[in-house]
Amino acid sequence: MKQVQLSAPADLVLKNGIVYTVDAFRTIASAVAVKDKRVVRVGNSEDVQPLIGDNTQVIDLKGQMVLPAFIDSHMHPAMSGEMILFNVDLTDSYSHEDNIKKIKLFADNHPETTAIRGAGFSRSDYDEIGPRKEWLDEIDSKRPIALRSVDLHSLWVNSRALEMAGITKDTSNPENGVIMKDPDTGEPTGLLQEPGAMAFVDNLMPKVSKQQYKDTLIRLQEWFNSLGMTTSFDAWVEMGLPNYYEAYQELAEAGLLTVRYRGAWYMDPADDYQAQIEKGRELSKRFKTDHWQIHAFKFFADQIIEEETGLLLEPYSHRQNHYGLKVWDDEILRQAFALVDKAGFQIHVHQIGDGAARYVLDALGKVQKENGKRDARHSFAHIQLILPEDIRRMAMLGVNAIIAPYWAVAEDYYWELDLPYLGEERVNRMFPVQSLFDAGLNVAIHSDYGVTEPDFMWAFYSGIKRCLPKRIFKKMYGDMPDYKRITDPTVRLSDKKQIGVLPSKEQMATLEEMIEAATINGAKANFLEKNLGSIEVGKLADLVVLDRNLFAVNVENIPEAKVVITFFEGKMVYSAEGAHAHL
Ligand SMILES: [Zn+2]
Repeated sequence: MKQVQLSAPADLVLKNGIVYTVDAFRTIASAVAVKDKRVVRVGNSEDVQPLIGDNTQVIDLKGQMVLPAFIDSHMHPAMSGEMILFNVDLTDSYSHEDNIKKIKLFADNHPETTAIRGAGFSRSDYDEIGPRKEWLDEIDSKRPIALRSVDLHSLWVNSRALEMAGITKDTSNPENGVIMKDPDTGEPTGLLQEPGAMAFVDNLMPKVSKQQYKDTLIRLQEWFNSLGMTTSFDAWVEMGLPNYYEAYQELAEAGLLTVRYRGAWYMDPADDYQAQIEKGRELSKRFKTDHWQIHAFKFFADQIIEEETGLLLEPYSHRQNHYGLKVWDDEILRQAFALVDKAGFQIHVHQIGDGAARYVLDALGKVQKENGKRDARHSFAHIQLILPEDIRRMAMLGVNAIIAPYWAVAEDYYWELDLPYLGEERVNRMFPVQSLFDAGLNVAIHSDYGVTEPDFMWAFYSGIKRCLPKRIFKKMYGDMPDYKRITDPTVRLSDKKQIGVLPSKEQMATLEEMIEAATINGAKANFLEKNLGSIEVGKLADLVVLDRNLFAVNVENIPEAKVVITFFEGKMVYSAEGAHAHL
């Protein structure tokens, strides 16, 4: 193992542990020494002994496990966090009645707010048309109400919000959006789908202040650190929201972040792409701090299956000739990609349907021919459906696969939306996790928070077992499985008992693969592997201590593993004993 000569003692020594380094040889050591933010020695107790001085903090791990701290490669921290932490929080609500109760409680307790915002309702609690404006009108008809679904792809609004936005039965659908209308009356129902339609009401809502975003980030990072996470990627930064990106910037400059963020500018398909790339280039020059940088542009190729807006190669099973939503025209996408690539940015694509993968890879292939090969590390996030030949094309083009193992399970979205919309053959090809690893792709983990909590033990378990951990299942469905949720009569009762398990068992990943996806592969996806992603001499000491060796326990015990300590650049930023170290 690599060693360096030191004249001075280490700041921190961890010993008597199981240190899974995730280095190229997947070395397992028992001790680590840290000085000036970086790992200075990896080995055993004898190796680190000479580095222990009077002021060295020594932690006896007593057999606990150490991993590189976790990386979440696509989420919406400030955006979703602000909405969930400071407004109506429906993320822990699993029924319509519960939703109504929580919205009403918030409205009653906040007579001072001029508009009611919130997030987290589940689309699967409603029929295809979605929740109705009338239900919100009963709670408050004077103030606008706007609530985002947990998947972030639809907005449930009341009549007041529709009126303020000027949306009537005569309003036609905007680009990249759908105004849900009653099939009988043609009146808007109160559901706005996808960014183009949501913007009508979003733009009328009171602006979030820079301080609110800062408060959000400070509260979030304590939670993220408690989950063992110290690096994240904000996949949707809007150039038109300086409060948003300056909140990150100011916290980074003040040295107050304990999570480092990378980010992507949101590319609005309704606006001129050249102007956006120009502006993004200018703005990104300002974000060159270690803990906040924007190095990517985020493109939506399609939207989501559950809103029937994910783009498929074959039509939806329940709707004739409906293929979903293609966000970009082929030629314009090629031109925009070419320019983004030439400007040295990473292209980060929201890809859900197999049709989206197909046309985006066509464009990326042309761009690589045109601009030449470079270390671009363009990325696909989500990858719900993709054909094997397109996985191979991703490998050839060096595209990262950023996946949410959390979703590779059969929960209510699967039974109530994906199965009827995709049909049995396609639904069981969803989330081909192992195929992505087998193709040699750089596979990284994301939670898409606020869609899912960035709980890595859950991610590992679901990636390995393709079902929900018991404790998450219990939280969502209570003690007894609610079989009423599984309404499809074509599914046999014996199979219904399998709720939670995706049938495609050949796609189960290994623990080693899941750990790599959360550490070194996440670092690579974010151009951080020189400094992060493994425990090696010279790298930053971002470390997580777990209460058990994940390799030594039964898989069923993985979700119960607890984060004991999290280090960010050698500083203890979380301790289960409550010994929070403040910067
Ligand atoms: Zn996202």
